[in-house]
Amino acid sequence: MTQTLDHLLDRNIAWAHGKTRSDPGFFRRMAEQQAPRYLWIGCSDSRVTANDVLGLDPGEVFVHRNIANFVHTSDLNLLSVLEYAVDYLAVEHIIVCGHYGCGGVARVLDTARGALLDHWLQPLSMLLHKHRAVFEALSGAQARLNRLCEVNVEMQVRRVAATPIVENAWQRGQPVHLHGWIYAIEDGLLRDLGPHLSSSAERDALPSIDHRVTHPAIPVSRRQRHAEEAFQPLALSDMASPPCCLPTINGDQEV
Ligand SMILES: [Zn+2]
Repeated sequence: MTQTLDHLLDRNIAWAHGKTRSDPGFFRRMAEQQAPRYLWIGCSDSRVTANDVLGLDPGEVFVHRNIANFVHTSDLNLLSVLEYAVDYLAVEHIIVCGHYGCGGVARVLDTARGALLDHWLQPLSMLLHKHRAVFEALSGAQARLNRLCEVNVEMQVRRVAATPIVENAWQRGQPVHLHGWIYAIEDGLLRDLGPHLSSSAERDALPSIDHRVTHPAIPVSRRQRHAEEAFQPLALSDMASPPCCLPTINGDQEV
């Protein structure tokens, strides 16, 4: 017997009605053209959906998703999306967004092999093999997985930067900015991980990915940055006149 998905179609009607109620011209505008400023390259994980995480409406972000937000330079699907986004939509920002606890990345840490998925994940697998000692030194499986999720983001940003599509855009002076982010499902917050790349020169100046494995980038959420900015004036004034109880540089007690 055919299984219909009427409950989803009903939800679609409710959603469309809701949109029209709050913004009568919404669908008419959408039908005219899309002009997103962002391309999102993310994981297929059902919990990490670009529009929801970014709080954006349809039409505002162009999206490509696959397992573990991978960038294979032979992936015609991804390259077609990238070319369309850069050459036709002229997006200004390309965000590679991974997430902690990624099942795809976890597969790399697993000893089981043989599925198509392992071919897909092979570049990250090779990196892990090369630096196995660094990862094994981390305390616990969760820390190893999270660290590999971070390294994976950086690796994929570099791969986007190496495509002729992005190189050509930079060469002709088109502003295209690359960003590496990571999302935590536990708190719903994105963290800026880097690298930030806006030119071939910036890409070429990056330390190797091997260096990044041993010198991790620190992920920073916007909330953390807000807190740091709020406390910055206080920290600066502290430096200008240290409390009397702090020892001076030469070890004498300040009076
Ligand atoms: Zn994932």
